[in-house]
Amino acid sequence: MTRKEFIKICGALGIVLPVAPSLLASNLNDKSDKRGLNRKVIIIGAGPAGLSSGYLLNQQGIDFEIIEASAHYGGRIRHNTEFTDFPIPLGAEWLHSDLSEFDKIVNDPSVQITTKMQEYSKSDTIGYFDEGTYAETTEGWFGVDEDLKFKGSSWMAFFEEYIVPSVQDKIILNAPVTSINYEGDEVIITTQKGKMYKGDEVIVTVPIQILKDGDIEFTPSLPKSKLEVLKEAYIWGGMKVFIEFSKKFYPTFLTLHNSHTVNGQQLYYDAAYGQNSKSNILGLFLVGLNAVDYQKKSDNELKEYILKELDGLYGGQASKYYVKHLVQNWSKEPYIRQAYLADYARARTSRILAKPIGNKVFFAGDAYTSFADWSSVHIAARSAREAVSSILEL
Ligand SMILES: Cc1cc2nc3c(=O)[nH]c(=O)nc-3n(C[C@H](O)[C@H](O)[C@H](O)COP(=O)(O)OP(=O)(O)OC[C@H]3O[C@@H](n4cnc5c(N)ncnc54)[C@H](O)[C@@H]3O)c2cc1C
Repeated sequence: MTRKEFIKICGALGIVLPVAPSLLASNLNDKSDKRGLNRKVIIIGAGPAGLSSGYLLNQQGIDFEIIEASAHYGGRIRHNTEFTDFPIPLGAEWLHSDLSEFDKIVNDPSVQITTKMQEYSKSDTIGYFDEGTYAETTEGWFGVDEDLKFKGSSWMAFFEEYIVPSVQDKIILNAPVTSINYEGDEVIITTQKGKMYKGDEVIVTVPIQILKDGDIEFTPSLPKSKLEVLKEAYIWGGMKVFIEFSKKFYPTFLTLHNSHTVNGQQLYYDAAYGQNSKSNILGLFLVGLNAVDYQKKSDNELKEYILKELDGLYGGQASKYYVKHLVQNWSKEPYIRQAYLADYARARTSRILAKPIGNKVFFAGDAYTSFADWSSVHIAARSAREAVSSILEL
């Protein structure tokens, strides 16, 4: 059972999980910045958590800078707009919640959000392959059919429309942070090239694997409790593959034997579902152990492997109708190196990682949350609201 299913079942059984306090809208809008606006916050990482943090600080008139290691903002919500005629989400693809999350991220009732989302239909076809037998059903698949898919848009397009314009001038790209010194009154951040940035507070939003690998040296060192959970945290690697076919021969979802276990997930799905497009794009989503065999292959080996897998199920149609493909291996991205904290990780891991250190070092991101859920964009944004709220209360 995945964490998402667990949370859903707890809800159905009336088991109460920790609930997000009503964060920001009220808290952030009352400008209750007790320390005054004359402060500067340094944000490390320009994924959804870093961008959201900057956006919320900007709403409060607080100075900030976002320091990003790679040449792009977006982190794991990056998309590709060249492969076909709608954005291909290379990482985050679905909204694993309801539309109210968009309003919470934008945190401004005067903004009308026009992003279009596509629901799945209960009559969508799902293919199952198990013990040598392939079958299709329209019975619905617990979990996935409740996610919302972006229509002619993506998480990245949403952030580019509503969040990035407020923070773009404050993003410093190609600047991997290598140290954070918080022993004095100020926090001093140093990048690989030796450039220093000073702030009153820092919000760290780098992927958990980056902290686990020790890319950033903290002075004083991270607290023992954080080091312990970082050491034991099991983080899934992951990749996505998109394949264009000249004919659609596959169902909305295709799940294979052992494709959804505690150790990972493998899912083929119609990536063009609900899009205003004639392209037939099949997506393959892989995380955890289910990703490992695929990740070892060269680009061409991977293509042949996937086509063979699909040919076996659909009578050779995959090879016959193949047009082109696109691979995104997140485990190989130099400043990501992971998909996300495993579904079966303990909620305690995120809660300990989310705790600020003193009143200077704050954490936001999908792995640093004080709630029962993690590994999603809306969770990363929610943790940013929490970090900024805490800073405003200082
Ligand atoms: C294959 C895959 C599928 C997914 N599917 C979904 C989905 O359908 N729906 C969903 O909601 N979520 C999904 N997610 C998860 C989602 O992408 C993440 O939860 C979200 O991107 C987390 O945002 P973040 O800001 O915490 O981290 P990130 O997006 O990883 O951003 C962190 C940023 O920190 C930067 N950084 C790293 N090291 C340094 C350093 N030393 N100095 C400065 N900057 C640094 C990175 O370059 C990156 O830009 C998926 C993820 C993957 C990999």
